[in-house]
Amino acid sequence: MERKCPVCEKGRLVEVEDIVSEVEGHFFVQKGKRCMNCGEEFINEKEGQKMIEIARKLGIWGEPLKLHRKLSKSARGTVLRIPTDIEKNMHLKGEEEILISKVGKNKLLIEVGV
Ligand SMILES: [Zn+2]
Repeated sequence: MERKCPVCEKGRLVEVEDIVSEVEGHFFVQKGKRCMNCGEEFINEKEGQKMIEIARKLGIWGEPLKLHRKLSKSARGTVLRIPTDIEKNMHLKGEEEILISKVGKNKLLIEVGV
């Protein structure tokens, strides 16, 4: 059976080998799956662990988790999807109140549950 994307529940997941994650300026290319519909990327669990291990060795892994993600456009505006890793790490349910502040020319601070 084909796996459907758990985010949009519409897209088909295809195997890709070019998922790029950024950890503190270091780029990791990993295998995983990408949704054909919404573009959400899912890094293989094993690959994700490998990346974390390497990042730890380099001394670049730690709080806060910093992952590079693209913004997307929806009819109602610009959408930022919270990466699954961060969602899990912060135990987000998707119904939290958030506060977005502009803290620099190209920096946004997102506070959860304030
Ligand atoms: Zn999707």
